[in-house]
Amino acid sequence: MPYAYDDQNIFAKILRGEIPNKTVMETEHSLAFHDIAPQAPQHVLVIPKGAYVTFDHFAAEATEAEITDYIRTIGEVARRMGVTPDAGDGYRMLSNAGQDGHQEVPHLHVHIFAGSFLGRMIDVPGHGDG
Ligand code: AMP
Repeated sequence: MPYAYDDQNIFAKILRGEIPNKTVMETEHSLAFHDIAPQAPQHVLVIPKGAYVTFDHFAAEATEAEITDYIRTIGEVARRMGVTPDAGDGYRMLSNAGQDGHQEVPHLHVHIFAGSFLGRMIDVPGHGDG
């Protein structure tokens, strides 16, 4: 079933300038801004400007220019945060999709977490040590 994009989601409103954001970086096709409720000392979100719900949606339907811009923006944001392992102490990027992924905002976003040790990769009840 094709994705239906809800243009009333909070990130769509940010992109239209209807609500403010603390911008880290903006390009032709992408926007990076600070998460309003940071879950690590540094927590930045990177979104494409296009109407994509999830990463798989974006991967299937975005243009080559959008994909190149978005991937390069994510890397550049990590570099500007000073956390790339060649210059800093590292980071984690993560993108939630759908119900089991606990996606709250239905517009593709990659989280970049950094600024302290981030613990193990994932905590799923009943799996691993969780
Ligand atoms: P997810 O659960 O992956 O969909 O994450 C949504 C993220 O959006 C959460 O980390 C929220 O804190 C963040 N968020 C929600 N509203 C805003 C906003 N107005 N500005 C910045 N971040 C937001």
